[in-house]
Amino acid sequence: MPSPALVIIGSGPAGWTAAIYAARANLKPVVYEGAIIEKNRLQGTLPLGQLALTTEVENFPGFPDGVMGPELMERCRKQAVKFGATVVTDDIVSVDFSRRPFVLTPLEGAPIQALSVIVATGARANYLGLPSEDAFKNRGVSACAVCDGALPRFRNKALAVVGGGDSAIEEATFLTKFASRVYLIHRRAELRASRIMQERALSNPKISPKWNTVIDEVLGTEKEGVTGVRLKSVLDGSREEIPVAGMFCAIGHTPNTDFLKGQLELTEKGYIRWKQTNRTVTSVEGVFAAGDVADDYYRQAITAAGTGCMAALDSERWLAAKGLAH
Ligand code: NAP
Repeated sequence: MPSPALVIIGSGPAGWTAAIYAARANLKPVVYEGAIIEKNRLQGTLPLGQLALTTEVENFPGFPDGVMGPELMERCRKQAVKFGATVVTDDIVSVDFSRRPFVLTPLEGAPIQALSVIVATGARANYLGLPSEDAFKNRGVSACAVCDGALPRFRNKALAVVGGGDSAIEEATFLTKFASRVYLIHRRAELRASRIMQERALSNPKISPKWNTVIDEVLGTEKEGVTGVRLKSVLDGSREEIPVAGMFCAIGHTPNTDFLKGQLELTEKGYIRWKQTNRTVTSVEGVFAAGDVADDYYRQAITAAGTGCMAALDSERWLAAKGLAH
């Protein structure tokens, strides 16, 4: 069984930054960047992570004119490979952290051993959980406006975006490029999004907020896909149907920790728990966590990259202290 010193699971800013640092420290890390499979496409967990699903990133330092999210990730990947990281396009589906070396089992390839592991698997978008929503996924229901918004089915049609945070505002604003109207469906009468984003969206004549409202059902036909949504007022329970060609969910995220199957301690919200302040250490010695999988608070590309760097340094120092680094 191959047995590198360090395996990094995940290929967003945290994973690549960890890989760059670890490779430059001569740890010859192996990065499992994720598998290119339909399940990952549907739930937004393809290689290169959430940034691969965005357009322009304007707040990553060093890019005064902005950079496209996918390009930023491709550049990080290239940088990691340049310094000696090995990239495997596969998912890790289970881990055994009770043995040393640890054993990681991929979806397609053979199991691999590792002396140390950095988990940087990020988080994915949430859906409402309605059966009618499930029925129309990919046929009008989406959690990524940037990925799907330009599709012909949405052009010059009315669309609905669910949520009241920065993501919902960003998606709604983005969709106005293609849609005739964007209904912003929010369960309260006040947005959670930052003031500047709110102002931008609420002054956009194509965006119509629907306050104190939830989606009761996604409406559609086998042939056409989504044709509308039935809304329900949380104040008086009254219902209203509006014709839309698409519904975009922007209601937060779930950390990608399923493959851990209880082997690392998680927080109440299901994120990996850092066991020491300002350190990326987890409940298992030698396993470190970085990026959104361990962060439900900042969730920025730059903070993920920062904790990726921390995890690589923590891993390198741990391996050295144990006399395991070459
Ligand atoms: P979020 O801030 O957690 O907002 C989620 C929104 O979805 C909230 O408005 C919430 O309603 C609503 N919601 C949650 N579950 C729901 C359900 N079951 N039914 C209906 N509505 C539901 O998540 P986010 O917008 O993805 O943002 C996450 C983080 O990323 C934030 O820190 C944000 O600032 C950051 N972000 C920044 C940018 C940017 O600066 N460009 C862009 C995107 C995200 P309530 O408000 O009632 O709880």
